[in-house]
Amino acid sequence: MKLIQSINLGVAFAILTLLAGCGGSSKPHAHPAAEAEGAVKVVRITGNDAMQFSHSEIRAKPGQAIALILTNTGKMPKQGMAHNWVLLKAVTESEVNKIGMAAATKAPDYMPDDRSNIIVYTKMLGPGESDTIEFDAPSEPGKYPFICTFPGHYAIMRGNLIVQ
Ligand code: ZN
Repeated sequence: MKLIQSINLGVAFAILTLLAGCGGSSKPHAHPAAEAEGAVKVVRITGNDAMQFSHSEIRAKPGQAIALILTNTGKMPKQGMAHNWVLLKAVTESEVNKIGMAAATKAPDYMPDDRSNIIVYTKMLGPGESDTIEFDAPSEPGKYPFICTFPGHYAIMRGNLIVQ
């Protein structure tokens, strides 16, 4: 499978327009033609019953607009096997573990109380569920870890957003 699955810009803008319409809080996309310079990256990522993300690496330019669609392609019940996608600041390995452990006690969403090192995250998804988030890549080039915070998953379900 291709590392980054991009779809054409027309579809990307259609999705973003849809998101803006639903959310209401997104910044206006009044001039899509002017922004069409490869601006929006659409990333489709899946998590499965084997505790695997389809991507271990996502690449973006500093500040690039990203529409990320996470889908849980598994069949196991949500109580035992659910997935989210949580993007962290460029923290150390031990900080990643700390966040993963803090999240483990926070059923049913498994998000830690202290979210100061979390940039953005999807909902926790059961089998067949999907969630889309729209955000801008960090403006500082670097390696930003992403994890699934379902108990026990962060050690395996992880990767990096490479901003350069
Ligand atoms: Zn997971």
